[in-house]
Amino acid sequence: MNYIVLDLEWNQGNAAKEAQDPAMPFEVIEIGAVKMDSRRRKTGDFSRLIRPSCYHTMHFITGKLVHIKEEDLRDEAAFPEVFRDFMEWCGEGPVFCTWGPLDLTELQRNMRWHSLGALSDRPLAFYDVQKLFAIACQNRRDRLSLENAVDMLGIEKSIPFHRAHDDAFYTAEIFAKLPEQVLANQSYDCFVIPRDRSEEIHVVFDTYAKDIYRGFPEKQDVLSDQGIMGTKCYLCGKELERKVDWFTSNGRHYYSVAYCPVHGFMKSKVRLFKSDDGLAYAVKTKKFLTDTEVAAMVKRADKARQKEKYLAYQAKRQHPQMQSQGRIQMQSQAQGQVQVQEQV
Ligand SMILES: [Zn+2]
Repeated sequence: MNYIVLDLEWNQGNAAKEAQDPAMPFEVIEIGAVKMDSRRRKTGDFSRLIRPSCYHTMHFITGKLVHIKEEDLRDEAAFPEVFRDFMEWCGEGPVFCTWGPLDLTELQRNMRWHSLGALSDRPLAFYDVQKLFAIACQNRRDRLSLENAVDMLGIEKSIPFHRAHDDAFYTAEIFAKLPEQVLANQSYDCFVIPRDRSEEIHVVFDTYAKDIYRGFPEKQDVLSDQGIMGTKCYLCGKELERKVDWFTSNGRHYYSVAYCPVHGFMKSKVRLFKSDDGLAYAVKTKKFLTDTEVAAMVKRADKARQKEKYLAYQAKRQHPQMQSQGRIQMQSQAQGQVQVQEQV
């Protein structure tokens, strides 16, 4: 097995000159990677530029940050050829590692745009080294820039940043220094979501659990699915009573708090997404809370429900005729009933 520490540089549509293609908002123009063996020792390098097929002028951000110009790419091979070489170089069953969660999704969007399929037929397990670094060296939540992390670990800055291979090189240096036990925290790229129940992902990590569910035609189908919105304790499997029922303040993230007599208060968070195929799907995380955290969740739920009430009130004020029409309808219905009664 090889770890493939990967970094991509991409270009994007330049509104004034070239319209953006929603199927591929970011076109990969460079693949850089470092190969490591199972003991995280470096065994190889990959670095290739790619001739663009979609966006032919360089977006000012790409030009300024990455320092790649149009003429640098003119004589390079197009994506399909470079990608094939890259996969051959990766070898059997590569485990991808990236700084942050974005590269594998964008790589697969590029693959699909060129009719090259995807890296996996379901969510793809990988290591987000930025997240692993946050777990091992930070407070779990803060995501540092690559250069800040390099500074924190005292890694020598022998080459510049922001070109694909250089960033892959530094990411690999950091990856090699992380303690073995942090590798239990793998991430999943959801460019391809589970097709059915059997492909769904259910993992228990050290301090939380994660479920990635199959897709549905509509968001409402997700929210009415018992399995997704159920609150089973992830440690003992018992179906728990919710002390704070599901609430949301933005219509995308839903929260609840349930109580397990053995394991305590468990927060569930359901995040809703839309897949590239247009399906609605959910990712649920569960974790146990301290008493202070439970109190904070109760407050948040109250606030969200107040906001919901206020928005409903505002909507009524802004569309008063809808309401009065409703009232008229009710009155006429009532009159109709009276008439019917009289006829009888
Ligand atoms: Zn339990």
